[in-house]
Amino acid sequence: MSKNLKPSCKQCKAEGEKLMLKGARCLSSKCPVIKLRDPGKKGGVTRKRKKKLSDYATQLREKQKVKRLYGILEKQFRMYYREATRMPGVSGLNLVHLLERRLDNLVYRMNFASSRKEARQLVVLGHILVNGRKETIPSRILRVGDTVEVKSRELASVANAIKLLKCSNSHWLEVDNAAFTGRLSSLPEVRDLEIDVKPQLIIELYSK
Ligand code: SF4
Repeated sequence: MSKNLKPSCKQCKAEGEKLMLKGARCLSSKCPVIKLRDPGKKGGVTRKRKKKLSDYATQLREKQKVKRLYGILEKQFRMYYREATRMPGVSGLNLVHLLERRLDNLVYRMNFASSRKEARQLVVLGHILVNGRKETIPSRILRVGDTVEVKSRELASVANAIKLLKCSNSHWLEVDNAAFTGRLSSLPEVRDLEIDVKPQLIIELYSK
């Protein structure tokens, strides 16, 4: 399985946004993107002249940002685009639904891991059950009504993530962190994502 080996913070810096790729560090003052935003710091983004991007460049940046956010490489991301355009409804929202329904994303969004990378590890190592059965494929797409459960409840990383993220539950998920369980109860809207995303720009880019 190919991986994105670029350092996490460099990926955020490239996008000028907090993509929350490193767990606890992302919520601390050590996050370099916070420093970048400080106008008093050397090299802060506010000191740089903002270039006006072409439509193509804007669409490309949006795609790169979302790929980085979910830790997905180009080949798989393009597959999601194709699937999103085949599904009924609005392709941009379909794309968001496919990405958010990935098992690694749900483990993270249910607060059982402090980043998607950590969530992927939990899944690959067999610590996660889906509908009561062990599941080791992080890219598995869940359906509404599916349940997720942490099998290995003694893991310190899970306890730390629950403590760290305990206020970040989403309304489209039913999560019981004390019981180490969660359920995908509905589908999210674009506004429910962690950062500002414009999925339609990605659809426009690929459909050229
Ligand atoms: Fe690094 Fe996290 Fe900040 Fe991104 S959000 S720059 S991964 S500390």
